[in-house]
Amino acid sequence: MKPSIRKLYSYFRLEIERGFDNNSVMGGLDRMLVHWEAEARADDLKEDLIQAVCSRVRDYPRLSASSRVETLKGLWARIQRDESVPPLDFDLQQKTSQPAASRGKVDSKSKEVSDASGPSPARVEQGAPAASPPGETPAEAPQAERRKAAEPVATEPVALEAAVTVLPGIGDSHAATLNRLGLVTLRDMLYYFPRRYDDYSLLKPINRLSYGEELTVIGTVQSVSVRKMRGGRAQMVEVVIGDGSGALRINWFNQSWIARRLRQGAQIAVSGKVEQYLGRYVMNNPEWEYIEQQQLNTNRIVPVYPLTAKLTQRRLRRMMDQVVSYWALRVRDPLPPDIRQSAGLIDLSTALLQIHFPDTWDDLEAARSRLAFDEIFLLQLGVLAQKRSWQDRTARAFVVDDSWMGAQLTRLPYTLTNAQKQTLGDVRQDLSSGHPMNRLLQGDVGSGKTVIAAIGCGIVAREGAQCALMAPTSILAEQHYKNLIQILAAGEGAVLRDDEIRLLLGATAETEKEDIRARLADGTIKVLVGTHALIEAPVKFADLQLVIVDEQHRFGVRQRAALRSKGDNPHLMVMTATPIPRSLALTVYGDLDLSVMDEMPPGRLPVSTYVLTPRELERAYTLIRSEIGKGHQAFVVYPLVEESEKTLAKAAVEEHAYLQEKVFPKLKLGLLHGRMRADEKEDVMAHFRDGDYQILVSTTVIEVGVDIPNASVMLVEGANRFGLSQLHQLRGRVGRSSEKSYCLLVPDTPDAVENERLGVMAETNDGFVLAERDLEQRGPGEFLGTRQSGFTELQLANLTDVRLIEKARRQAKLIFDDDADLAKSQHRYLAVAVESFWSGGEGDIS
Ligand code: ADP
Ligand code: MG
Repeated sequence: MKPSIRKLYSYFRLEIERGFDNNSVMGGLDRMLVHWEAEARADDLKEDLIQAVCSRVRDYPRLSASSRVETLKGLWARIQRDESVPPLDFDLQQKTSQPAASRGKVDSKSKEVSDASGPSPARVEQGAPAASPPGETPAEAPQAERRKAAEPVATEPVALEAAVTVLPGIGDSHAATLNRLGLVTLRDMLYYFPRRYDDYSLLKPINRLSYGEELTVIGTVQSVSVRKMRGGRAQMVEVVIGDGSGALRINWFNQSWIARRLRQGAQIAVSGKVEQYLGRYVMNNPEWEYIEQQQLNTNRIVPVYPLTAKLTQRRLRRMMDQVVSYWALRVRDPLPPDIRQSAGLIDLSTALLQIHFPDTWDDLEAARSRLAFDEIFLLQLGVLAQKRSWQDRTARAFVVDDSWMGAQLTRLPYTLTNAQKQTLGDVRQDLSSGHPMNRLLQGDVGSGKTVIAAIGCGIVAREGAQCALMAPTSILAEQHYKNLIQILAAGEGAVLRDDEIRLLLGATAETEKEDIRARLADGTIKVLVGTHALIEAPVKFADLQLVIVDEQHRFGVRQRAALRSKGDNPHLMVMTATPIPRSLALTVYGDLDLSVMDEMPPGRLPVSTYVLTPRELERAYTLIRSEIGKGHQAFVVYPLVEESEKTLAKAAVEEHAYLQEKVFPKLKLGLLHGRMRADEKEDVMAHFRDGDYQILVSTTVIEVGVDIPNASVMLVEGANRFGLSQLHQLRGRVGRSSEKSYCLLVPDTPDAVENERLGVMAETNDGFVLAERDLEQRGPGEFLGTRQSGFTELQLANLTDVRLIEKARRQAKLIFDDDADLAKSQHRYLAVAVESFWSGGEGDIS
C-alpha cells in the first residue's frame, strides 16, 4: 500500500474500532489532512481521488455517527476502485469489544504462544521472527500494515523476558554489545527508545531537489567507482543514480564495502542532505537501502538510537525491527479500554511500533503521549499502594515532652524560624503516632533542614534506638556529621556522647569500618551518618528506627522503598531543596506527607543577581577579582551542552586552562567535571572548601547542598541553557554567610527573550516561584528529567506536559478508589504491569 493510503486505512480502522467517535486522530479526523494531502501527491494518487478524500474527511466531524459509517464505507469503496487495498471490516467494532483472548482474528501462530501456560525461552525461539518474519502477518495485509496495530494480541509476558540471544542472528558477542546498552531481554529492546529521529519521509525526483534539503531520492544505480583520496589511505565510493528526471552523485567516504554491494541497475533509496560540489548537487554519506527491502533507514522518519562501540545504527535498527515488528503486537495492553478511551490514548502495541518506526510525526506524538502516560500512571498506582500499606503498619512510637524539646531548642545558637517550628512539630507528631513516618521535607537551599533532621535523630536516639542519615556525597555526609555532633553531642545537656554518632564513607579505613559495624550491631552507635554505603549489604543495625535521606531528588522512588527494608518499619524522612510544583510533587512524592519550609533564617542578605551580555564577561571577571581580593572565593559554571561527556570534559579542561592562564594568572583555579571519578571530585571540592583554590571551575552542577560560606560569587556562563530552578540551586551555593554575595548570569547570546526569562532570577529569590515559572516555560522535564533528578523510572514523561501528568494521576486515583488491590478481572494485566514497573529497579517494594 502507498503510505498515504496505508494511513487512511489505519485511521479508518481506528475509527471503526472506536465506534466512529472522530477521535482516532487527536483533535478530529480532519486534522490528518494537514499532512495527508501532500503525502498523497507524493504518492501520485489521482487528483480526483485526493479531492474526494479531502472533502469527505473535512465534513466527517460534523456528521452523525451513522452518516460517518456511510461516509467511510463509501470512501473506502471509492479508494478500492483506484488502488489495490484490502477490504475494511466495518463490523470490527463489535468484535473488538470482546475480551482480547476470545477475539476472532488472532492468527494461529500467536494463539499458540498465548495459549501456552508458560513458554520457555526455547519456545520463544520458535515463535520469534526470522529476519523477515515468515507468515506472521496475514498475507493480505501488506508488511507496512504491521505498523498500526489495530489488534494487539495477548501473550504471556514471560516470553518477553527471554534473552536477546533468542533472536536469529544474535549470538553471544552481539548480545554482549547489546548488554552494554542495558539491553538484556526482548522487553528491554522493546522499551529502548530512539534518542531522536531523522525525517527522510520527504521523497522527491532528482530534478526537484534544492540545496540543504533533507530527504529521500529513489533511483537506479548507473555507475559505481572507488577512488583513492589525496594522501593515499582514505577511499571514496562514488555512485551515480538516475531516476528519469536527472542524475545525482553520491559519495561515501571510507565505506568501500558499499561498492561491493552496489551493482549497476540496482534500485536504491538514499536519504540524506542535499549538498553542493562544483555547482552540482551531491549527497555525502547518505543512508541507503535497496528499495525492494523493507525500509528502515531511508524513505521514512528514521529512528536514531543511542549506540555503543561495535554497533551501527543500521544494525541496531534491523534488530529493533525484528523485535518490534513481532513483539509489539504481542504485548498485552495493561490499560483497560475505558481508561484508554477516556484519556484519549492509543493502544500499547501501536505506541510501541510508532515510537520506534513512526509513520508520521503525529503518530510519534501519540505514541509518546501513550508511553509517557503509562510511566506516570504506573508510578502513581504504585505510590498510592505504598502509601496505603504504610499507613496500615505500626511503628515504634517515640514521645518527648515539651520540657525536653524546650531544652534542646535553647541549646541551639539561634531560634528556629516559624517554618522550622511547624516542621519540627510535624516530625514530632509522626514519630509519636505509632505509624511509620513518611515525610518529605521540602525547603529551599539554606532554609535550615539539617537541624530538623538532627532533632529528629535526638528524639529517637535518646531512647536507645538507631538512626541513619544518608547523603548523596561524602562531602555532604561529612558536613552533616559535624553539624550533628554540634547539635546533639556538644556542650551541656547533650543528648548523646560524641562516640554515639559516627561517619561511614566509602573511603573510611577498613579497620574503622569494622569497628563501626561492630558498634552498630551491639547498639553503641545511635546515629550513623554516611553515603549510600551505609545502607549497603554488610551494614547491619541492631535497632534501626529512623532513616533520613538528604537531597532526596537524587534517589528514585524505588530506592526509597529499598531503604525502608533496612529496618523493621522504620520512620522515614526525606529532605530536598528542589522546589517541586505541587502537581508534580503529588505524583512523584505522592506516598509521602509533605512539610514545606518556605522561610529563610533571618539576617541573610539576598544574593544580588545580574544578567550580563556575553560582551560584559570582563565585568564579571573584575568583580570576581575584587571579591577574591577581599578573601572570598568564586564559582564559575559552564553550560551543560547536549554533547557527550567526553567532549564536554575536553571543553572544560580547555576553559579551565584558558581562565587560569589568560584571565586569572595569579590565582589558583580548581576544576570539576563529569568525567572525573567520584573521589577526584570530592578531592577538588575539599580543597576548594579548605581555601586551596580561589576559584572553582565546574561543568557539572556543583554538588548540591555543600556549604562553603566563604564563596561569594557564582558566575554561570551559558545561563540560557539552564532551567530557572537549576540556576536557583546554583545561586544557593553562595549567600551562605552574612556577607554580600553575587550571582552573575551570562547567556550565550544577547537574545532579548532569553534575557527576559533570566531576568526573573533577579526579581525573586523564591525557589517555588521559579519552579512554577519553569513549569510554565519548559515543562516538567526540569524536575523529572533523569539527568537532573535521578528519576530513572521515567524515560518519556519529561517530554510531555503537565496536562498529561495530571491526567495520568487522575486516572490512577479513579482506579485506586474503585479497586485498590487491582483485583477485578479487567485490572489483572494492570496489576502485573504495576508490579513489574516497580520491581524493575534496585529495590523491591516491601
Ligand atoms: P539546608 O536547608 O539548605 O540544608 P542547612 O541546614 O545547611 O540548610 O542550614 C543552613 C545554615 O543556616 C546553617 O549554617 C545553619 O546553621 C543555619 N541555620 C539553620 N537554621 C537557622 C535559624 N533558624 N537561624 C539562623 N541560622 C540558621
Ligand atoms: Mg542541606
